[in-house]
Amino acid sequence: MSLSADKYNKINIADKYIRQEKIGEGTYGVVYKAWNKITSRVVALKKIRLGPTKAEGLTTTTLREISILSRTDHKNIVKLLEYHHHRSKLYMAFEFCEMDLRKFIDSYQNLRLRIPANIIKKFTFQLLSGIKYCHSHGILHRDLKPQNLLIDAAGDLKIADFGLARQLSYSLRPLTHEVVTLWYRAPEILLGSMYYTMSIDMWSAGCIFAEMSSGAALFRAIPFLIHRDT
Ligand code: AMP
Repeated sequence: MSLSADKYNKINIADKYIRQEKIGEGTYGVVYKAWNKITSRVVALKKIRLGPTKAEGLTTTTLREISILSRTDHKNIVKLLEYHHHRSKLYMAFEFCEMDLRKFIDSYQNLRLRIPANIIKKFTFQLLSGIKYCHSHGILHRDLKPQNLLIDAAGDLKIADFGLARQLSYSLRPLTHEVVTLWYRAPEILLGSMYYTMSIDMWSAGCIFAEMSSGAALFRAIPFLIHRDT
């Protein structure tokens, strides 16, 4: 079916998609594989339940993700195709990716195999390309980890989940410490530094590279540290 962009945009997002299986669950919503009846495109549809009033339910995380992903355009950053609120729900349609890097690493580990060097090299290059794009646009991701890196059908890596991302400004306001999942968290955050820079994403990228190479996380947090630091 071909429609003008204007007519397409007027259709409610909930009426455009046929939901298929659940493919993931984040802190703020459930992610489904879905099929667009009008374009025939398969997408990942994130459904976020809003609070009693729309403004109340729109968390900072969701607003950050929408605001940053609406402005990014890079082959190694997941594309937000459209978003729409309908009744008490907010829907975000993303380009569909086959799996995340966590599942990819685990699938090799379960077979006691090493990921081939050419794949590690490609994923590392694509991760760094995506990070370079973010940093050159003043965006810190702040939560890079294998679960947030998606792999599409062509085997290309895309950075996703910008819920903790932040647009860098030149203000000297101290930045929050509750960023980056512990195993991938840079030492300056762990040691309580009030200010940090793009280097926190580079630390996470190094941890992810080491994990792809060895099959095991480089720095596994022990429960004692989790109690003290989160
Ligand atoms: P999130 O809420 O963004 O953290 O997503 C939760 C989980 O849903 C991820 O870890 C992925 O397994 C899955 N997911 C998120 N976005 C996509 C996507 N674009 N394509 C396929 N799976 C996705």
